[in-house]
Amino acid sequence: MAEAIYDSSNIFAKILRGEIPSHRVYEDDAVIVFMDVMPQGQGHTLVVPKAPSRNLLDADPAVLGPLFVHVQKVARAVKKAFDADGVTVVQFNEPASGQTVFHLHVHVIPRFDGIPLKPHSGQMEKPEVLAENAGKIRMALAS
Ligand code: 5GP
Repeated sequence: MAEAIYDSSNIFAKILRGEIPSHRVYEDDAVIVFMDVMPQGQGHTLVVPKAPSRNLLDADPAVLGPLFVHVQKVARAVKKAFDADGVTVVQFNEPASGQTVFHLHVHVIPRFDGIPLKPHSGQMEKPEVLAENAGKIRMALAS
């Protein structure tokens, strides 16, 4: 099978270029953090490195350390923002694994005892809910 290559027309590349909107939580030179529009749970957040790669498999190793420093910060922030019992951190590689957007990203999902995750890429959340949740996470990151 031919090796899959990065395609800059993917939806997260468009968000990174500012071509389509997102409910942004944080941005610096290395990453952008925004709300997943089809959350699997309240506060489902995506941490996206700016450097282009399809996923973990073709990523520059130099990207991964800083990326996971941000993942840890966001995981701590969502736990605080939603008073969660735990946090799921997950990342998919290629369609066989469940990947649907082909720009490397890490899912950070607050978890609550006894509450299962909703389906992956399921129902769209209301923009006002995403905006409110992004605000809560921003506040937690700042404190
Ligand atoms: P993957 O399956 O590639 O790991 O996850 C892609 C994620 O992106 C899914 O959880 C899906 O809900 C989310 N998603 C898909 N399209 C958009 C979009 O246009 N904006 C945002 N913020 N999230 C999206």
